[in-house]
Amino acid sequence: MTRAPILELRKLTKTFAGFTAVNAIDLTIAEGEFFTIVGPSGSGKTTMIRMLAGMETPSSGDIILRGERINDVPANKRPTCMVFQSLALFPHRTVGQNIEFPLKIRGVEPGKRKERALQLLDQLRLPQNYYGKSVTKCSGGERQRVALARALAYDPEILFFDEPLSAIDYKLRKTLEKELKDIHRETGKTFLYITHSLEEAMVMSDRIGVMRAGEMVQVGTPNEIYTAPNTRFVSEFIGDVNVFPVVANGNGKLRSDTVGAEFLPPRALDGFAAGSLVVRPEFLRFLDRPDAAQNSLKGRLYNEYALGSRIQYQVRVGETVLIVEKLRQQAYQGKLDDEVLIGWDARDSILVND
Ligand code: ATP
Repeated sequence: MTRAPILELRKLTKTFAGFTAVNAIDLTIAEGEFFTIVGPSGSGKTTMIRMLAGMETPSSGDIILRGERINDVPANKRPTCMVFQSLALFPHRTVGQNIEFPLKIRGVEPGKRKERALQLLDQLRLPQNYYGKSVTKCSGGERQRVALARALAYDPEILFFDEPLSAIDYKLRKTLEKELKDIHRETGKTFLYITHSLEEAMVMSDRIGVMRAGEMVQVGTPNEIYTAPNTRFVSEFIGDVNVFPVVANGNGKLRSDTVGAEFLPPRALDGFAAGSLVVRPEFLRFLDRPDAAQNSLKGRLYNEYALGSRIQYQVRVGETVLIVEKLRQQAYQGKLDDEVLIGWDARDSILVND
C-alpha cells in the first residue's frame, strides 16, 4: 500500500453474551481509500462499522486512528461521520437546514454555515436554489446527495456508509453508485462502506473485505476478489458460478465425479487433494469440436434467458446444470434441447481448497 494508513484494526472483536459477532479482525485502511465490507446478513458488518464509528464498544482488540487508539473515544468526539441507510434527513426542514445541522450543533455562526452549505451544494452538483427547498420535494437521488452534503459539512476524515442505497430502486442505485465513486474521488476522503451486494462493492471500491460469520475471509481489489477468490464462499458470493467438486487424479489432472470428467487444472496440483473448480459463466464457450478448448463437456441446452446485452444459457450435463453467458452478438445459433459441447481453457478456471 503506497498511501499512509488512516485506520488500523488490531484483533478487533465483539461478543454479545458469548456470541462472537466480530472475530479478531486485523485490517489497515489507507488514507483516501474507498473500502467496502461485504458479507451476507448476520456476518458482522454492521457491528464492525458501529465499533469504528464509536456506537459500540469493542470487547477486545484496538481501533487505531492515525496512530492513536480510539476505542474509548465517544462517537461525537471522533473525526468520522456515519451516513445511515434511509438517509435519516429531517423531513420538515429545508435542504439548507439539513446540511447545516452538524455545523449548528458545533456552534458555527449562521453566515459561515450558509456559505459552507452553498459550497457543498455546488460540490454535489445540486442547484444553489435548493438551499431553501424542502427535502420532501427532492427526488431519491437528490436526497442521497443532501445526506452526503450533510455528512461532509464538518469535514470528517472518514465517512461510514451503512447500506445507504439498499432501499433505492435498481436503476437509480446504479447511477448513485457511480456518483458516489465520483464524489469519493472529488473529496479525497476515506470512505468505508458496507453492503451485502458484492456487485455494488465491485463498482465503487478500491478494495473489498469479504466477511463471513464474524471473520474477514478475504481482502483484495475488486479484480482480485473476482479473479482469485480464495474460497468457494467468496467465488459464489458474486452471483452465478459453475462449481465442480474435484479431486486430484494423480496424473496432474482433476477428476469430477458429478459430471464424470477429467479436467486440466489452472495450476500445478502440488499439495492439492480435493476442493472445487470454479468456472464463471462468461468463460464457458460453445464448441464445435471437443479439442477447441482444454476442457470440454457434452450436454443438452435446457433453457435460455435474455439479460439485455447478454444471454444466459442453462446446459444440463447429467444431473448438473451449468450456466453459460454470452454477449448477444455471440449468441448460440441453435435451439433448445440441442446436444451441445461446452468448454473452457484451464487458465479461465479457479481452483479453491474447499
Ligand atoms: P445485516 O446485513 O443483516 O445487517 P450484518 O452483517 O450487518 O447483517 P450484524 O448486524 O453485525 O450483521 O450482526 C452480526 C451478528 O451479531 C448477528 O448474528 C446478530 O444477531 C448479532 N448481534 C448484533 N447486534 C447484537 C446485539 N446488540 N445483541 C446481540 N446480538 C447481536
